[in-house]
Amino acid sequence: AGAGVSAGARSSGALEGDHELVVRDLTWRPFGRRDPILDHLDLDLAPGERVLLAGPSGSGKSTLLRALAGVLTSTDSGELSGSVALGGHPVLDHPTGEVGLLLQDPADAMVAGTVGREVAFGPENAGLAREQIWERVEESLRLVGFPYGIDHEVRALSGGEAQRLALAGVLALRPAVLLLDEPCSMLDPASAATVRDAVAGAVAQSGATLVVVEHQLSHWTDLVDRLVVLDYQGHVVADGPVADVLTAERDRLLELGVWVPG
Ligand code: ADP
Ligand code: MG
Repeated sequence: AGAGVSAGARSSGALEGDHELVVRDLTWRPFGRRDPILDHLDLDLAPGERVLLAGPSGSGKSTLLRALAGVLTSTDSGELSGSVALGGHPVLDHPTGEVGLLLQDPADAMVAGTVGREVAFGPENAGLAREQIWERVEESLRLVGFPYGIDHEVRALSGGEAQRLALAGVLALRPAVLLLDEPCSMLDPASAATVRDAVAGAVAQSGATLVVVEHQLSHWTDLVDRLVVLDYQGHVVADGPVADVLTAERDRLLELGVWVPG
């Protein structure tokens, strides 16, 4: 698969229909581990909602994003229970929903030889027309400020370039739900700002739901509506409007080692 994981794509324009994401009683415990990583988790994400997901390293943020994308499965050798549904359709173990996931280490999952092929991979799998695919490839690369053309070799990219390339691949799918796992972690401030603007533009245009994980919360606090915080025990320990959570839960966030702006 390409570095962006998605099982479907809209053909054009703003999203129509319900794409509420509903998580119920989600539990994930890898075999050989006593405590679950996600413990009876409930979460409702309204269509178009923009959420920042925080928590200390190892609290299960990446695992939760993988569950939301339907790519955390029983083959991950653990105990998985509960449900994730997109617009009422099951997602867990059935990545058939229109969910795009930018992995934390996207370079590991890149298979295509060239930049153009890598971004085209998802839209091709989704069965889009050739002309439309290449329009989207060009547009997505431009949006993320990608510095090279479509014939550039993927293996010659730096970590930050690979991260932006993978984001272009996910944006090219125009998913109903956009899940971004530390999209700016390898980027300099200028590239991080470009990525942030690209994501802001994409969700404003499509109405997609956004869930973004980032240690540097301040990259995203202006764009998101809501801050959800996970602890080591796999629980949501804070959830609400960003400013409220940052104020009311400041001590708890600091205790968890979550970096708090200001
Ligand atoms: P975060 O993204 O918040 O840093 P992760 O979701 O990557 O956290 O990981 C949460 C915990 O689950 C970590 O302790 C990690 O080592 C463990 N973990 C993740 N995936 C697996 C797996 N497939 N099997 C066993 N342990 C796992
Ligand atoms: Mg992670």
